[in-house]
Amino acid sequence: MKFDIVTIFPGMLDAALREGVIGRAIERGVLDVRVYSLRDFTDDRHRTVDDVPYGGGPGMVLKPAPLFRAVETIVRERGAPSVVVLTSPQGERFSQAEAVRLSRLEHVVLLCGRYEGVDERVRECLATEELSIGDYVLTGGELPALVVVDAVARLVPGVVGDGESVRADSFTRGLLDFPQYTRPAEFRDQKVPAVLLSGHHGEIRRWRRREALRRTLERRPELLEAAELDAEERDIVRELVEERKKGAEDGRD
Ligand code: SAH
Repeated sequence: MKFDIVTIFPGMLDAALREGVIGRAIERGVLDVRVYSLRDFTDDRHRTVDDVPYGGGPGMVLKPAPLFRAVETIVRERGAPSVVVLTSPQGERFSQAEAVRLSRLEHVVLLCGRYEGVDERVRECLATEELSIGDYVLTGGELPALVVVDAVARLVPGVVGDGESVRADSFTRGLLDFPQYTRPAEFRDQKVPAVLLSGHHGEIRRWRRREALRRTLERRPELLEAAELDAEERDIVRELVEERKKGAEDGRD
């Protein structure tokens, strides 16, 4: 899968993309990621990427021409992209479902805004979609671009070593993940649940299902409504709801 990222701070992306699972996948050629410096697409001596906003007001706005030229160069060098994503707090909210959608594409271009944002014509005529990583404002689109690349890339076959670990994650099935423990079996008087040490695979599986459902019910009940549960899981949810009701009643007594 190809990703091309356009930014005024390529060093920020290069550093992050060297590390970890994503870094290794790039090294092995499973992912093909290029970072383009927006300044390379300017045509003045000062390599100007921004200008003052029409109508006045504080701050600067990214000029349209360098962004258009960058994408035109990407099309020439790398082929026509599947999507051109503008990072923006005004965009569609990025989620696991969006990550799955993008992971099925061949070639994703990401544009990183800065300052007060980008000229509106980039949004209208260059980007094919806008994504926000959450309801807060960052100083630039570099971290959002990294968030998108990271979440999407780990769904690409061959990027995460053990395919199993991607499937069990929080949100992949619409449920939160079960609790994880590692050695030692007892740490500062806190014991690992005995079932996990039992070697009893059936019981371990049931315990994990139950705890994943418990977590989701306690923390994100709205996810349960949307999750596709099998008969066993629906039974467990009924039990957990009963348990909680009883717990609440006992608390009142
Ligand atoms: N004035 C703009 C925000 C500019 S923030 C507005 O209110 O819409 C500068 C740049 O950071 C944006 O162009 C965008 O690329 C990036 N950015 C900031 N917050 C973001 C978020 N939550 N999600 C995605 N990109 C974001």
